[in-house]
Amino acid sequence: MILALLGLPSLLAFAPSDTVYQGIEPRRVVPYVASTQARLRAQPAWQRFVAGEGAGWSARFDPLTGTATSASGPGLPMGMPTTRDGLDKAVRGFLGRHEDLLGVPLRELRLRNARNDARTGIAYVEYDRVVDGAPVWGGGVRATLKYGNLVLLNVDTYPQAPRLGAASIPAAEAVSVAMDEGPAPWADHGEASARLVLLPLPVANDVEWHLAWEVRTRTFDPPGKWVSFVDAQDGTLLHVYNEVRFLDGVVQGVHDTRTVDGRTSTSPMPLITVRPSSGSSVTADDAGAFSLGTNDGTVQLRGSWLTVNNEGGREGSLSFSGTTTPTFTTAAATEAEIDTWVFLHHVKAWAETYAPDAGIINEGFTSNVNLGDVCNAYYDGSVNFFQAGGGCNNSGRIADVAYHEWGHGLHYTSLLAGTFDGSVSEGIGDIVAAMQTLDSTVAPNFGTDGSAIREIGADRVYPDDVVNEVHEDGLIFAGAAWDVLGNLAATYGEGTDVKGRGWAVASQLLATAIQSGPTIPQSYDAYVVADDDDGNLGNGTPHLCELVDAFTRHGLGPSGGTALVSLDHASLGNQPADTPVALAGSLTNLAPACVSFTLARAEVVYSTDDGGSWDVAPLGVSGSGLSGAFGGFPAGTVVQYYLRAQGADGTEVQLPAGGTIAPYTFYVGDLQEIYCENFDGGDDGGYTHELLSGRNQEGADDWLVGTPGGMSGDPDAAFTGRRVWGNDLGGGNYNGAYQSDITNRLSSPPIDVSGHDQVIVQYRRWLNVEDGIYDVASVYANDEAVWTNHATNTRTGDEHTQDTDWVLHTLVLDGVGDSLTLGWEVDSDGGLEFGGWNVDSVCVYAVAAPVEAARVTDFVASDDDVERVTLSWTQPDDPGVTTAVVVRRDDRFGETRDDGEVVFVATDLTPGETIVAIDTFVGEGYYAVYTGDGSLFATGAVEGENADRGTGLETDAGADVDGGDLLVKQEGCGCATPTRTQGPGAAGWLAAALAGLLATRRRR
Ligand SMILES: [Zn+2]
Repeated sequence: MILALLGLPSLLAFAPSDTVYQGIEPRRVVPYVASTQARLRAQPAWQRFVAGEGAGWSARFDPLTGTATSASGPGLPMGMPTTRDGLDKAVRGFLGRHEDLLGVPLRELRLRNARNDARTGIAYVEYDRVVDGAPVWGGGVRATLKYGNLVLLNVDTYPQAPRLGAASIPAAEAVSVAMDEGPAPWADHGEASARLVLLPLPVANDVEWHLAWEVRTRTFDPPGKWVSFVDAQDGTLLHVYNEVRFLDGVVQGVHDTRTVDGRTSTSPMPLITVRPSSGSSVTADDAGAFSLGTNDGTVQLRGSWLTVNNEGGREGSLSFSGTTTPTFTTAAATEAEIDTWVFLHHVKAWAETYAPDAGIINEGFTSNVNLGDVCNAYYDGSVNFFQAGGGCNNSGRIADVAYHEWGHGLHYTSLLAGTFDGSVSEGIGDIVAAMQTLDSTVAPNFGTDGSAIREIGADRVYPDDVVNEVHEDGLIFAGAAWDVLGNLAATYGEGTDVKGRGWAVASQLLATAIQSGPTIPQSYDAYVVADDDDGNLGNGTPHLCELVDAFTRHGLGPSGGTALVSLDHASLGNQPADTPVALAGSLTNLAPACVSFTLARAEVVYSTDDGGSWDVAPLGVSGSGLSGAFGGFPAGTVVQYYLRAQGADGTEVQLPAGGTIAPYTFYVGDLQEIYCENFDGGDDGGYTHELLSGRNQEGADDWLVGTPGGMSGDPDAAFTGRRVWGNDLGGGNYNGAYQSDITNRLSSPPIDVSGHDQVIVQYRRWLNVEDGIYDVASVYANDEAVWTNHATNTRTGDEHTQDTDWVLHTLVLDGVGDSLTLGWEVDSDGGLEFGGWNVDSVCVYAVAAPVEAARVTDFVASDDDVERVTLSWTQPDDPGVTTAVVVRRDDRFGETRDDGEVVFVATDLTPGETIVAIDTFVGEGYYAVYTGDGSLFATGAVEGENADRGTGLETDAGADVDGGDLLVKQEGCGCATPTRTQGPGAAGWLAAALAGLLATRRRR
């Protein structure tokens, strides 16, 4: 469904508007889906790395590019480089040894930045990934060193980036396009610059490649630091965002009662400059204390660090005489001037402890107050606050607003690497405010009705809550940082209303983490590196578990919000008949320092009767690996299965997690393809969809063909290729979930299945749907429901179907007629929606050879011959059944062609023909013949049909007879595997000669 953004300006409008356009960086959402991660983890480049130098390292992979977007582990010594050249050389040496991890040749990387921070012991070395001289926007490689050890590697090289040739429009023209077609065409644009980039523009959970000019311009009215992307080949304006950070967000909800109006307190005015009536000026100290030698003078809101400008009237100025405590009141200056002075010095004092090197502390800073606009504030290098009006209080009078805007400046001037990411910056603004106020509600009384700007205590989750609006998306990071504070306070036994040890640690982690310029998904790594105390991420960090917990709650952290201990297993495909099914898996613990899990037991649980009953087969366990075999199922069986692993402490993990609710399946036996469609051709496969009931609004019929975005439980990649059909695939303003109170259905085109009484439907399913008592997901065959999701009752109601992998779903359909139309439907109630259907690789099969018809019905093994047993039967009269295998056992009839000693094998037989073979054998044997097409064979022994007892009695005890030797009597052939001749050949003659005898020898 689409998420409604209350009160936001039209986000994508490029047209002039009375609200300053903000926009967001063209950054892709990178979801975390465990099964995709397991598949990417298995790739050879990564496996080679962890088998050698990278022992103990773990990684998160980008599902679109396949590269390790975040890899960390035990520190790898790089020497102790500190200079740009030294850092580059050390990291380049490492990358040269592991070029396959890059996905691209090392020569396609160009050094962008190498910085060492002696205070924190962290160094960053960044490379652009360059294609024909142009860097891939947002791409490249970053190496993070702590205490001289490589501890974190980010590889975003986009190996699939195309070569798009040269620019065909010049930079100057691109700048004109950016100015004229951008959000502020009427404004004066200065400071223009342009560089050529290869832009992976996010489109529908995929990327579209453009060679583009990245154009930067500056405007002052409206405030703008514009970053525009103009296609360098056709001059199209592709994307714009504004780096000026505005306060504006969603005014919502009345919360706390921290007031703005009427509440005053007398605070010192630190670092303010005092001009005496005679003599030279002095500057007050941090506590506002100064010494003049005279009691007369004037003070303006100017000092050694801050200058406050009153944009709404004359500058505040306080004349004093006969006092050593001159006090600003509204008689001397506006409240906004006085307040902003106090608030900004307050937050600066905080940062002096945790970010002493940040430029915002060490360079002069300006605050402009009482600007001629309302309900906002912004940071553009200075902080700027609007006057009261329009239902809002004067933003310069609210401490949280001052902290937030100043937080943007702290972010901007702290950067040693990475980017000034808009969403993270908004989150930083909010958490910087909350670190001062110890309140998760940001800026109460921003509205004159008491309303606040935002609430960071709510659990916003990546990527489901990403809406591509910087303030909303920033709440994901701010929420995680807020939970870090809460967890650390708990660790140190403090309340969250205390600025104690936990608060100090949280403050330091925040200030250090933001130096790396993370995006939202990189923020967890930034915290972990900040927390590390020994240049080794393989042994945890002092507060790792507090960080894991906090970030996991917001869809970040090592598991992207999913389980920290997961089973990995490549699900089984269809299996041959009567053959034990081997399977293997492994257990991944993504936070071994915080979650202890030792694999003690593992088993496969399976059903061959559509879930009516379940059997268990134990699997072997070795370290974190599990393997074994189960079954050996007859052809035609549909097997459902799931894996279950138990830790030493009894904790259980299942895969699929739903166990019997949504198991994996496979079909046993050979299938003949009638129809297969994976939606990766140029079209949609001819599938159609419709809303069957519910209000016909946008997104009610939300079936789409495209790349799934990993939201609301959806997959982050297709099973094959790039495209699937699914309910709301996510991305943009869509959250990936179906809507409430609707019924919609996807239908296949009619599939010709004429000539087949039975067909097998198999497709890859990734379904997330509420318990079937509430929301019903169905598969239809010609308008008849042939499958629905698991349902309980109103007392339970929480057994949802939540696939976390592309499950092979197998349905056996009888009597569907000549034409089959498949349908996938979701029928939702009024509450709780999930990601719905995702459908890929739809196939319809016929059983390759008719199993029952292939069985012999007249098999005879002789029991009156000497030292041999004569075997005879009529080959089933089915085209394709040209192979026969006879097995012998001495205890019972063999049940399959492998079950016993094989005494006869022949291929290329003629259906309907009589076959005679001789087994040189002394003793009593149980014989059975299995016929088939070479890969699919009949199974099961029925005495009098395909099984018979036979004896070869010994008459000469001294004779040298090789019991069990295979001897095939084919009149002059005697070969083990006779080659058939055309027409009435030798065997045909033999068959005719024996026909009468065989008729009399039948036992029944
Ligand atoms: Zn902001």
